[in-house]
Amino acid sequence: MSDWDVIIVGGGIAGASLGAEIAAKRRTIIVESEAQCGYHATGRSAAFWLESYGGPHVAPLTAASREFLDAPPADFADRSFLRTRGALHISRDPGAELPAGIASRHIERDELERIVPGIRPEWRFATLEPGCADIDVAGLHAAYLGAFRRHGGEVALDSRLRSARHSNGRWTVEVEGGATINAPVLVNAGGAWADAVAAASGVQSLGLAPKRRTMVQLRVGQSGLRDLPLIDDLEGTFYFKGEGERSVWLSPHDEIETDPCDAAPEEIDIAVAIDRFERVVDWPIERVERSWAGLRTFAPDRLPVYGFDLDAPGFFWCAGQGGFGIQTSPAAAKLAASVLLGEPPDAMVRGIDPGILSPSRFAEARP
Ligand SMILES: Cc1cc2nc3c(=O)[nH]c(=O)nc-3n(C[C@H](O)[C@H](O)[C@H](O)COP(=O)(O)OP(=O)(O)OC[C@H]3O[C@@H](n4cnc5c(N)ncnc54)[C@H](O)[C@@H]3O)c2cc1C
Repeated sequence: MSDWDVIIVGGGIAGASLGAEIAAKRRTIIVESEAQCGYHATGRSAAFWLESYGGPHVAPLTAASREFLDAPPADFADRSFLRTRGALHISRDPGAELPAGIASRHIERDELERIVPGIRPEWRFATLEPGCADIDVAGLHAAYLGAFRRHGGEVALDSRLRSARHSNGRWTVEVEGGATINAPVLVNAGGAWADAVAAASGVQSLGLAPKRRTMVQLRVGQSGLRDLPLIDDLEGTFYFKGEGERSVWLSPHDEIETDPCDAAPEEIDIAVAIDRFERVVDWPIERVERSWAGLRTFAPDRLPVYGFDLDAPGFFWCAGQGGFGIQTSPAAAKLAASVLLGEPPDAMVRGIDPGILSPSRFAEARP
């Protein structure tokens, strides 16, 4: 039996970033089911930072994270994790607006044609969001795990939480293989498995729903695509962005309810993605170079959940990061850390009310 102050279940971006924020102050261990951290959602994202994404309670976390991602502190990383490419939100009809406060400008059809040669004529309206950037997700995740370890944190791989029980103020966790570890605080950063982790710990679930999203790397008969902006439609039926000189990353913007699993793309979703893409540009499709899928996990109100469970002492939720878990990770980790440690919030998140993201918002839904 090993003793800790905090056990974090899950070594994706959520568990790693929160771990990095608390490890210097609490002896912390991350237990991860897989042989490597980042195998699930974190390793499968589309890797962009887009301020207009996720709604009014997510945008502040995204915005607050920007500076850290762009110019991280020297003791965390020696280079930026961002590469700005901009986003173009296109539509067939006029009138669509981005939320107030997000830097953007409408562009005319002739400018749209210059940026996206071959765009079909019905796409007459476009808004450019210049701040959209690619995130070096692997680099960011590795930097968080590195900081976690430097501050004394330990990562136990191949260590799925099988069960946990609470007695005498401590959680005792049994992991795959039979080892037991204990700590007064148990953090649930289990991604798509967050409700399953709660159930295995005797804690009532919150209704966190994993939804599959498909990604396709498509080779096309058009060159000069590497810096193509992220292009999406305001109805939310596709997005794509430049990848290589003649390839794009494309998604049909699917959200297919599924049980937590090692998600894989379905042929039908790849076909839908390509069909939608062909309705946007006239570029010949050459081949699917690769495809993958991952699970984006949402709470019923589509906001993340950071905070202690109301009924289960010492059980801390760090879940429901949906499709914004990477771009919000610096601010979300600082916010969650202040709640977990019971300390004043870091300057990065001082203006953000953690109450909005607390699991207590679901109290009335519990029997
Ligand atoms: C296709 C796709 C595109 C996306 N694009 C973007 C994007 O452009 N920008 C953005 O910000 N976000 C994006 N996201 C969302 C982002 O990837 C997620 O919000 C984020 O990765 C969630 O991180 P996590 O750590 O909660 O989950 P995960 O990375 O899934 O980590 C959870 C970990 O918990 C472990 N675990 C589960 N159960 C147990 C257990 N019982 N015991 C031990 N370990 C356990 C799992 O093995 C897993 O490693 C995208 C997601 C997908 C799928």
